[in-house]
Amino acid sequence: MRVHNFAAGPAALPLEVLERAQAELTDFNGLGMSVMEISHRSKDFVAVASESEALLRQLLAVPDNYKVLFLQGGATGQFAAIPLNLTAPGARVDYVNTGSWSKKAIGEAKKYAEVTVIADEAASNYSTVPAQGSLQVSDGAAYLHYTANETIGGVEFPYVPEAGDVPLVADFSSTIMSRPIDVARFGLLYAGAQKNLGPSGITVVIVRDDLVGHARPETPSVLDYAAMAGADSMLNTPPTFGWYLLGLNLQWIRDNGGLAGMAERNERKASTLYGAIDASDFYSNPVDPAARSWMNVPFLLADADLDKEFLSQADAAGLTNLSGHRSVGGMRASIYNATSQESVEALVDFLKEFERTHG
Ligand code: PMP
Repeated sequence: MRVHNFAAGPAALPLEVLERAQAELTDFNGLGMSVMEISHRSKDFVAVASESEALLRQLLAVPDNYKVLFLQGGATGQFAAIPLNLTAPGARVDYVNTGSWSKKAIGEAKKYAEVTVIADEAASNYSTVPAQGSLQVSDGAAYLHYTANETIGGVEFPYVPEAGDVPLVADFSSTIMSRPIDVARFGLLYAGAQKNLGPSGITVVIVRDDLVGHARPETPSVLDYAAMAGADSMLNTPPTFGWYLLGLNLQWIRDNGGLAGMAERNERKASTLYGAIDASDFYSNPVDPAARSWMNVPFLLADADLDKEFLSQADAAGLTNLSGHRSVGGMRASIYNATSQESVEALVDFLKEFERTHG
């Protein structure tokens, strides 16, 4: 039996994707071998790789003057790769701090560049994003970095910041493919796959051509955008099974209405869940309604002493992975693309029942 899985990442994958992978697991393309057991240089795997890139480009409407790279090292690897590729020693870079993942990105960038935090949402305890139009990019900044969706805090930018001529760089780990975006507004965007793209172990980087080819000489080749682009992301052995599953997941997105379909589905799920939380005095969500994430919904119980009981009853009801990140406690329901409206409604029914019996 499949549970209702609200994991933050690695996260639920569509059942159809898992079943297709299962059906092909021992014999891929009639080869008598799994996709995991063939060379990344084989014609069958190269087709998997190039078809998934083409589909990602099509779904996200990636302009031709952008490279799409499939890398390793997670989004955390990109926290370092970005300054290494986009700056020379001593360069100044701007960052926006909207919470835990912004802080991690800032910490890593500080090893390589002079970081200016041009906005910090500490005053709201990271429950807001800067007001649209309020960001002042520093003179001479090499880029502006922000976190499009804070997976732990459940804070999502409802707009794309304005950075003028300065390249805009964004961490889309927990929101990529959840709705359409205008890629042309960005110099670079990146995402670990394990939420909306596929399994962990593969990282997508979409980078404008003019930002490729400036890596510092000491940049590891596997993090060097030009080196990886020149080798079609196969400078070394890529995570082949993850890449294949990512491709299947993209096909599922295509077959379910593309990004417009995902947006409709995700907005409906989010409004169902926030609506239930807001309608109750027993549950609360701390995030500014204008910046509430469609993907990660943190919530607190009025009485934290009930947290353990809540989680154990939820588990027993087939609703799993609802505990908040260890750094903040409380609860969190992650409702990425693969989570169905039905799962969200099962959660809402459970919330009501738990409140009725414990409120
Ligand atoms: N950024 C965001 C927004 C994330 O949610 C995560 C992982 N949860 C990371 C970065 C780090 O990703 P990885 O574990 O792939 O390095």
